[in-house]
Amino acid sequence: MTALQDEIERRGTRIFELVDKHPEPLFSKAGLYERLMALSMRDERFKGQLFRFVDVLPSLRGSGEIIEHLNDYFSDNGFGSLVNTGVRLARIVPWVSGPILRWNVSGMANQFIAGKNPDDAMATLRKRRAQKIGFTVDLLGEAVVSEEDANGYAVRYMDLLEKLAPETKNWTDPLGKNAELFPVVNLSVKLSALYSQMNPADPADAIAHLAPKLRPLLRRARELGAFINFDMESYAHKNSTLELFKTILTEDEFKDWPHVGIVIQAYLRDSEVDLRDLIEWGRKRGTRFAVRLVKGAYWDYETTKSLQNGWDCPVFSQKSQSDANFETLTRLLLENEPIVTAAFGSHNVRSIAHAQAFADEIGLDRSRFEFQLLYGMAGPIKRALVEMGYRVREYSPIGELLPGMAYLVRRLLENTSNEGFLRAKFAENVSAKELLRDPRELIKLNGANPMKSQTTINTQNQHPQGSTVGTAPDDVYRNSQLVNFVYKDSQDKMRSALREARQRIGEKYPLVIGGEKVWTDELTPSVNPSAPDEIVGYGSEAGIPEAERAVKAAREAFGKWGLTSVEERAQLLERAADILERRRYELSAVEVFEVGKPWNEADADIREAIDFCRFYAEQMRRLGRPKLTQRVPGEESYHHYWPRGVAFVIAPWNFPIAILCGMASAGVVTGNTVIMKPSEQSIVCGAKLMQVFEEAGVPPGVLNFLSGHGSVIGAHLVDHKDVDLIAFTGSREVGLKIWESAGITRPGQRELKRVICEMGGKNAIIVDSDADVGETIGYVIYSAFGYQGQKCSALSRLILLEDNYDQVMERLIPAAASLRVGNPEEPGIMVGPVIDEAAYRRILDYIEVGKSEATLAYQAKDLPPKGYFIPPTIFTGVKPNTRIAREEIFGPVLSVLKVRDLDEALEVANGTDYALTGGFLSRSPDNIERVKAQLQAGNVYINRTCTGAIVGRHPFGGFKMSGGGTKAGGEDYLLNFLVPRVVTENTIRHGFAPEQTPEYRNEFRWPKSH
Ligand SMILES: Cc1cc2nc3c(=O)[nH]c(=O)nc-3n(C[C@H](O)[C@H](O)[C@H](O)COP(=O)(O)OP(=O)(O)OC[C@H]3O[C@@H](n4cnc5c(N)ncnc54)[C@H](O)[C@@H]3O)c2cc1C
Repeated sequence: MTALQDEIERRGTRIFELVDKHPEPLFSKAGLYERLMALSMRDERFKGQLFRFVDVLPSLRGSGEIIEHLNDYFSDNGFGSLVNTGVRLARIVPWVSGPILRWNVSGMANQFIAGKNPDDAMATLRKRRAQKIGFTVDLLGEAVVSEEDANGYAVRYMDLLEKLAPETKNWTDPLGKNAELFPVVNLSVKLSALYSQMNPADPADAIAHLAPKLRPLLRRARELGAFINFDMESYAHKNSTLELFKTILTEDEFKDWPHVGIVIQAYLRDSEVDLRDLIEWGRKRGTRFAVRLVKGAYWDYETTKSLQNGWDCPVFSQKSQSDANFETLTRLLLENEPIVTAAFGSHNVRSIAHAQAFADEIGLDRSRFEFQLLYGMAGPIKRALVEMGYRVREYSPIGELLPGMAYLVRRLLENTSNEGFLRAKFAENVSAKELLRDPRELIKLNGANPMKSQTTINTQNQHPQGSTVGTAPDDVYRNSQLVNFVYKDSQDKMRSALREARQRIGEKYPLVIGGEKVWTDELTPSVNPSAPDEIVGYGSEAGIPEAERAVKAAREAFGKWGLTSVEERAQLLERAADILERRRYELSAVEVFEVGKPWNEADADIREAIDFCRFYAEQMRRLGRPKLTQRVPGEESYHHYWPRGVAFVIAPWNFPIAILCGMASAGVVTGNTVIMKPSEQSIVCGAKLMQVFEEAGVPPGVLNFLSGHGSVIGAHLVDHKDVDLIAFTGSREVGLKIWESAGITRPGQRELKRVICEMGGKNAIIVDSDADVGETIGYVIYSAFGYQGQKCSALSRLILLEDNYDQVMERLIPAAASLRVGNPEEPGIMVGPVIDEAAYRRILDYIEVGKSEATLAYQAKDLPPKGYFIPPTIFTGVKPNTRIAREEIFGPVLSVLKVRDLDEALEVANGTDYALTGGFLSRSPDNIERVKAQLQAGNVYINRTCTGAIVGRHPFGGFKMSGGGTKAGGEDYLLNFLVPRVVTENTIRHGFAPEQTPEYRNEFRWPKSH
């Protein structure tokens, strides 16, 4: 054992002795919640329900609602007699139990909140002063949704400073030594409370908006001799926070001010790099600053988020890795004490003892750093540290319960976490020896350094060599990653792709027919909707002769391609996916220019295209093997599929690569040959996709690229006798025409035409009376205004229950007013231009209709001077039978409908011609169940946005007038491109039958070697 480890154990043991001198339960208040927490630690399911109930309770209106929720969350859930009796009792006397429950939950929350307001909190701070414990105060609330809220926080932070400084004027440092390093007034600031449009892709914008709000606060703090700490939040904001800290504190005014600090989260894999960089920055700046070292409060969130998006997980996967890293960073901080003042934010005695022991080892006086602990937690440890002569500061949140709910849930999670120190020590009585072990010893060798998330690893291995028709494909498809624009490297790549795309502006693109590039005299220009005087590119304009040539080429190629093995076809798609992956920034950049997609939307489109290719390849392998229908002796019947023939794919501009690629790749992998026609507004994207397939080695004629006018070549090919299948995504008007026209059998036609038809939507989100208002705003804003409302899944009808109508509207309008509208070449723009002049005019006409049918509640004013920008617009008082409530607008226009209750909400939501997507925001398990059963939509989304379907995860498509009921990205999609066939063989010979008939066999092929 090393001397340092000896010393850590000695100090840790001492802390435990002092802790045990004043035994206290894990929660400073014993009682009901102590018992509830104990139950939560035993039963994860109960914990889930309890935290959800705690989350919703403060926003419930009366005892009746409280008891209903209690019932929904806890009854008949097998949680044991204590809970069941409680629920039964509560039901009997709701008017008594409702307030009691509310009171208990407030009590639970209040133990983590130092006061409702600064006055309230002062009493707590005074008490702590008497115990020689200092404070840093924080305002509850984070991640604001509007600039109005953000400005409110800026004012409140300032008020807090103004209040604390005079009240604590005569307070002296508890250690009376090195006091100049540790001002008494210490304010912790969360940046996400000060700017509502923080976007990880755009740190410069965050800095531009946050710096003017922070300067007055920093200036005043300096005048008052106070300290400001920049708290650290989720990983998405980390780089912006660090950048802002360094930028603003290098300004002349603040360059020589030492009383500022920032948080480093040791659970982050890149935290050591960040800390070294900060120290280096501090040296160059030449003035001391502070770092609060913590492990990090968002572990569950970061892990879930990166698993969902397929991102490398930024946090360590083992608790002991975070602990060990905390110690590495502790040493780094203490060794650099001449430039950085350390604060250790931990309740873990091992982490604390290590800091103490190491400081001693290097001869650093204990008054030159401090320990910080959270209000309402680990009281005995604070006391022990004070007794040992260390400086202790308490992190003291101030505010109301509702805005503080996210904070409360983080604390509850922390206290009950399986991995947490507090639970181990105070709830499970783990031995001191065990608690003081060196975390490096505990790091499991296996997977100790997985820099990549599990998903990444799996994604990379998803096409195992030798995955053939004989082996089963994976059950669960793993999606390609989204680009994470939080990384500077991703931002740089996108910027450079945009520069390169700009250089290619105005290029011309040929048709591709039978593997040949075909140029026509006429060219169709494709315009940049952000700058209509800019032609992004020109597509050769196909006429009837080219369309005929394409059908002929496809027909000829079909003979061979239809007989090509499933494996070969699947591999073609996988090669295309790899090329899309390689060229994803280039293709995203083209989308920004050609269809006005913001960065992340463009990237999501390319990701979807990649997923379509890989997912359909996998699905075709599954479908491609003839399958035994029934096991009967003496006969074998195999069910299998043939391609239909020539497919004509007609795609829209709003997902210009993904949808075109999805339909075309489905056609190709199923053995059909394809003529793909991109939208007139997104020819360049279409042409680029053709290049991808050419590079992937698609044989001549198997995929043909035909740009041109729908009214000319589209109509001609839909009616063509040699076209067997039409896959269409677009407007209802065109879709219905195709559906009708394809029903007519033409002379010489071989097949009944199959039509796959995806049309529009008039999608609704219903907001229940108990929905979380802050989250509601975020989901509604993104669903309605993301990509300017030009997704077929976009929200256009917001249905609010009258109970919380005012609350939602009060925050929705300022949130809409805070949106960044502009040219999406800039990162972080959420609302760009609509696609073209015709759309622009049509949407403006609808806005006029809206003004006559309803009340214009909000319309943005500041718009870029050129380009097809439509201001985000909200109408209220909309009646269900009006045009703006029934017709698809396809732009950033939201209609708000007020209803009495959920019955009426469902009636309104279901009362349109469409059934594409629908959403429900609620915290009532019963209502959620009801909506799941009754909302008429192809894709029903609960407690999230109603846009953003992911291949394989959310097979996408609607019914009624939204489409024929097919599901792109679903496991039955490819069946639409196939004809089923059954081959039956009597295997009895003179009464003798083979014993074993395999469930799957190889494809029927002739000649066998073909
Ligand atoms: C004064 C103070 C200020 C704070 N300010 C911030 C802040 O600005 N930003 C912020 O994010 N947090 C902040 N925190 C919260 C802090 O991150 C948590 O309280 C802290 O992580 C708990 O760590 P611990 O050492 O007390 O407990 P421990 O029980 O030793 O550690 C728990 C921590 O380990 C990590 N962990 C848990 N499971 C795993 C796993 N499987 N793999 C890897 N790591 C895991 C998590 O970070 C978890 O919180 C602050 C805490 C204090 C005391």
